[in-house]
Amino acid sequence: MNQNPVPTTDTVSKLIQELNKLPGIGPKSAQRLAYYLLRAPEDQARLLAEAIISVKQKTKLCSICLNITDADPCLICRNEQRDQSKVCIVEQPQDILALEHIKTYNGLYHVLHGAISPTEGVGTEDIRIKELLQRLEGSSVNEVILATNPTLEGETTAMYLSKLITPLGIRVTRLARGLPFGTELEYADDVTLTRAIEGRQEF
Ligand SMILES: [Zn+2]
Repeated sequence: MNQNPVPTTDTVSKLIQELNKLPGIGPKSAQRLAYYLLRAPEDQARLLAEAIISVKQKTKLCSICLNITDADPCLICRNEQRDQSKVCIVEQPQDILALEHIKTYNGLYHVLHGAISPTEGVGTEDIRIKELLQRLEGSSVNEVILATNPTLEGETTAMYLSKLITPLGIRVTRLARGLPFGTELEYADDVTLTRAIEGRQEF
């Protein structure tokens, strides 16, 4: 058990406990954040609390690409300037942010919300593959770019999807090597990510 070196009230302890559950926030950081919020102007704390509540209440998944959105369909799916013939498959919504940031890709996306991982018990039914196949069927999509992470799980997922999509007569490409094995797209630098998408190859 993590012990707080400073005795605190139940209310403060509760806040520390909750902050400690966030990724990358250890007990020390949780404590620092809690005391920071305690001293912060009331407005700042309230805005943070409201932002947390509305991100849970107001966001939903886009019915087309399954990205997180306030309005359905999302801004990307609604944008007619985007190339409707390409769909880039990513594991998580954050990966779209990384790819949009480099401004190289102008097609559409599909979010799987995970990757196949037998060791963690994530099977083909647990990620959003069915929705992808339904979407591709009879669509005008002529290229699917597999942008799953270059990890064991990402490669397994790419391989599986390629076997399902190639028979549909759709070109299947994979991000170019250059992203080091084990990296997550979301943490790749812009130059590497730009090279990876521009240099994508038949899979
Ligand atoms: Zn969408």
